[in-house]
Amino acid sequence: MIDTQAYKDRLISEKATLEAELATVGRRNPSNPNDWEAIAPEGGEQADPNDTAEILEVYGENAAILNDLEIRYNQVKDALSRIEAGTYGTCSVSGEEIEEERLNADPAAATCIAHIESK
Ligand SMILES: [Zn+2]
Repeated sequence: MIDTQAYKDRLISEKATLEAELATVGRRNPSNPNDWEAIAPEGGEQADPNDTAEILEVYGENAAILNDLEIRYNQVKDALSRIEAGTYGTCSVSGEEIEEERLNADPAAATCIAHIESK
């Protein structure tokens, strides 16, 4: 049996960290709280075309960062759901128990070491 409590604590704290990071480049989609959208920096007083280009650039960077953060955020949330469902620590491919070293390296892991590449 896997002791899920330690992993749960790590997942909860990582989720909080990710939410803080997500909030620096995006905001929760008002019509879908499970979705995050990138935010553009404020435009300032007058609409200078150079400013607009820079805003779009920063927006693009934010969107890329947000995308990576969101992928990880969803993995962490899925792992927490599996803890609630009692299926945590079971490989999603083979159904076997996930190695402890694998879970230590990544508490959000959904597969055993043999199935890391096959999701
Ligand atoms: Zn497996």
